[in-house]
Amino acid sequence: TDERQTIYDVIIIGGGQSALSVAYYLRRTTLKYIMLDAAPLPGGSWQYTWKSLSLFSPAQWSSLPGVFMPGGQHHYPSRAETITYLQEYELRYKFPVARPVKVTSVVKKEDTFVLTTTAGYYYAKAIVSATGSYANPFIPDIPGSASFKGTVLHSSQYREPEDFSGKRVAIVGEGNSGAQILAEVSKVASALWITRQPPEFLPDDIDGKYLFDAATQLYQAKQQGRDYQPPSLGHIVMVPPVKEARERGVYQHFLPAFDHFYPDGIAWNTGQQEAVDAVIFCTGFRPALAHLAPLGIIQPDGRIKTNGTKATGITGLWLTGYGSWTGFASATLIGVGRTAKQTVEELSSFLQPA
Ligand code: FAD
Repeated sequence: TDERQTIYDVIIIGGGQSALSVAYYLRRTTLKYIMLDAAPLPGGSWQYTWKSLSLFSPAQWSSLPGVFMPGGQHHYPSRAETITYLQEYELRYKFPVARPVKVTSVVKKEDTFVLTTTAGYYYAKAIVSATGSYANPFIPDIPGSASFKGTVLHSSQYREPEDFSGKRVAIVGEGNSGAQILAEVSKVASALWITRQPPEFLPDDIDGKYLFDAATQLYQAKQQGRDYQPPSLGHIVMVPPVKEARERGVYQHFLPAFDHFYPDGIAWNTGQQEAVDAVIFCTGFRPALAHLAPLGIIQPDGRIKTNGTKATGITGLWLTGYGSWTGFASATLIGVGRTAKQTVEELSSFLQPA
């Protein structure tokens, strides 16, 4: 029989760390599930990030459920190590996965979800969307961009500093991506840093462990009905390349958000203008939820209303790994496991009511 005529209990859409964590807990149930991943190879979006990227969470605090990321407390895993870790994780547990299979739309007919994919139709009683946000980069709409003669790119398209050798480059954004890309581009190019607000750096000794502790505290506070305000994740983590750039004075100067482009560069309403060859927008991502648009539950802010990871507007849909709105620190390796476990508990009681 054609495998695709099967009605799965659960289809996980995605194949990155979040999909893997959900699969880890599903594997312990009797539910019939599959992962559908648009990418040709395992590893999620880490495969596409810039070459030198190193995690801001030390290895010991960068693990999915079940297998420790090697390296211990003082090692910041590289991009390559992270991809290898995810590939091995997937192989070790022999998760059922079909790739490359991109889900282009999801509709619900009576109690069954019908998924249109690049490999035909798939059917499921429940869906976990774990598509991350890498496929939906956000660049602010700034007047005059069509007239700009230089290059405009998003951090998701940035690969290595050598592409900008000897050029004049504006790097937009005061988050971790902006600070890390500025650190290396400033070695080979003349770099301007554009920030919407003054950048904020975490103390040198704060890293992924701190995220983990905060996630634990938030979880405990919720269990005990207490209020707990988790720390902001927007601040810059002092990974070694960022410390090195700070020693060079790279972060001392920054300009406010510019108001428009002109053919040779960027300009402010004050009359100031700066000629640049390229603008790299490190301005973040929005959740990649286009496949769920036919369900009619995406809000104007690009998210879906949830209680924990469970969508409230439709029965049978869960969303994992997208950020604090799907669980504190759920967009990190260490944080996603907790929400995955909860998700599978909810899936089990939905599909196999006691
Ligand atoms: P992804 O890794 O994006 O995986 C999503 C998968 O779904 C991909 O394989 C994609 O091909 C697939 N997909 C997308 N759309 C579809 C579709 N329609 N149909 C089928 N498949 C689809 N986290 C940490 O824990 N520590 C760090 O130090 C850290 N540093 C970071 C630094 C930077 C600069 C960035 C950008 C992120 C960092 N993160 C870090 C966060 C982490 O990389 C991401 O949050 C994480 O990759 C999200 O995992 P995910 O599985 O949710 O999504």
